[in-house]
Amino acid sequence: MALLEVRDLRVAFNTPDGVLEAVRGLSFDVDRGSTLAIVGESGSGKSVATQTITGLTSGARVSGSARFDGTELIGASSEVLRTIRGARIGMIFQDPLSSLHPYYTVGWQIVEMIRAHDRSVSTAAARRRAADLLGVVGIPHARTRIDDYPHQFSGGMRQRVMIAMAMALDPVLLIADEPTTALDVTVQAQVLAVMRRLQEDFGTAIILITHDLGVVAEMSDEVVVMYAGSAMERAARRTLFYANHHPYSEGLLGSLPARGGARDRLTPILGVPPSLIGLPAGCPFAPRCPYAFARCWSETPPLRMVFDDPAHTSACWLTTVLGDRESLRAARVQ
Ligand code: SF4
Ligand code: MG
Repeated sequence: MALLEVRDLRVAFNTPDGVLEAVRGLSFDVDRGSTLAIVGESGSGKSVATQTITGLTSGARVSGSARFDGTELIGASSEVLRTIRGARIGMIFQDPLSSLHPYYTVGWQIVEMIRAHDRSVSTAAARRRAADLLGVVGIPHARTRIDDYPHQFSGGMRQRVMIAMAMALDPVLLIADEPTTALDVTVQAQVLAVMRRLQEDFGTAIILITHDLGVVAEMSDEVVVMYAGSAMERAARRTLFYANHHPYSEGLLGSLPARGGARDRLTPILGVPPSLIGLPAGCPFAPRCPYAFARCWSETPPLRMVFDDPAHTSACWLTTVLGDRESLRAARVQ
């Protein structure tokens, strides 16, 4: 059994302009100790989906299921969700400053977090654990830096503090929402390395939300590609990079600048994502898809197994129409 099983998750918000369907029937699994990357442009629903699972969306209409280690999270009481958040599911976000309190030292904040979940832990013990954690995430001189305030750390070091805090209660799942987006490339690589090492040492599963395929390539076992609130393609990392099927994935990968290569090799996907209010029937990617044909405009393609790989699914009519990879390739060259 997977650690987290999400099935047909739907999240909608009432807005003055109508019902906004932010997540439209999303399903995925996260296995223990593995990393699932959820990739998509901003507004694709990737953050909303994980925030809903952890009970952080308010005023939304939610349906579907998210079973976490045997507990159903959709519709769970706020008390259950509060206990699970932090203790069993750790979270880190793009901007550590929005999650760290500016007026308290980082050590104090980690100690509070530990003691809020377990009052039987003494302050001294919690402080020792905080210092250890800061050391584990690679903060030099952790034992003295523990008494520094968030603004005294660089962006990359602050993100390490956030990771230490998220790991403080030994979660089995870490949700990292654009954890390195605000960092420059070198620091980004260091922070990802810290996450990878923690995963190896503690067996933590990770959901990595990102719009950056470089980050996906760097650390993921499986990938869900989201567009307009639903999954376009799900595949093992290698499959996604070397044998992706969905035209949107192909487009995303086409806009990946070659490592160290020039920006002019970038081939962006033309057009913009659709509005999620009153989305018409049909494939949501059709207006931007170079392969769209009549059926794409009238019927929404379901996620289907791609050829003979059960770990690989794609929501594209081409999967159904063309029986194998070769005819798919042939169709695309024309
Ligand atoms: Fe393109 Fe049609 Fe496939 Fe959608 S279903 S991605 S429009 S070919
Ligand atoms: Mg987001």
